[in-house]
Amino acid sequence: MGGHRLPAVATGAAAAAGVAALALAWLLRRGTAQGGVRSSTSGGAKAKRPDGTAPLKPYHRGMREREYLRLIPEAEMRQLRSLLRRVYAARGWADDVGAREAAWEAVVAAAQEPHNGAWDPSFSPDTVSSQQLQSLLALIERTFLGGLLSDRVRDAKRPPLTIKLGVDRNDPYSWLSGLNDDNIIFVNKNRWRDEISDGNPMNFEGAICRSKLEALAHALGHELVHALVLNFFPAMDARCEAYTADDKHGPVFMLLNKRLFGHVGHASHRLFGAPPG
Ligand SMILES: [Zn+2]
Repeated sequence: MGGHRLPAVATGAAAAAGVAALALAWLLRRGTAQGGVRSSTSGGAKAKRPDGTAPLKPYHRGMREREYLRLIPEAEMRQLRSLLRRVYAARGWADDVGAREAAWEAVVAAAQEPHNGAWDPSFSPDTVSSQQLQSLLALIERTFLGGLLSDRVRDAKRPPLTIKLGVDRNDPYSWLSGLNDDNIIFVNKNRWRDEISDGNPMNFEGAICRSKLEALAHALGHELVHALVLNFFPAMDARCEAYTADDKHGPVFMLLNKRLFGHVGHASHRLFGAPPG
């Protein structure tokens, strides 16, 4: 079997030895079976320090924030900081741990209300409707981005952000979700069958998720970072190595994902794995 599959059976009592560590580049692939959107990094010259002396180390996973932020060119950094300021103003809170944790809790609670899709925290992907998915996405976008992204999509006459739940025939277990260039977020149905609970939580980029709904909300937050770059900064999305590195999870992605959603790192994994076999 492949190495990118979450345990099919969730067992809270299972030994920690069974932890399945999964690289997010596989789980949250940009693009779908249609292919074509996988970024090709230009592989050009390494970034230079402002004084032109020593080249900076190229981006690699696990790089410290201080190091990877230096890899974002000044012009792009200005654009990103300006966007962050606008988002903070629109949503009413900045890069603040307490406010952010409260926002995640509020999203998960609100999603269970009737007008937001009446989500079951341990939903089955077989019974989820596209209306529920759209409601959840809109809720996360309003809460974390203050509606700026949907405004941008409308003003730029871009296709509306849309979620599709389905199966990638080529690799049905490889990733949780992905974003296409036409603003379609694809959620890989087969990856959402396993239980996530208090006894079998999931670590999603540093966030401990105790329900499938919570994990899905975080996965959608991750995709919204890609959607921000795609819709606000299409040139950056296409060819800025500080974004396109690591399959579009380079320093630009890391910066936004952390400041907007509190997500860190590249791995999502179960805290308790299923027994082997
Ligand atoms: Zn991604």
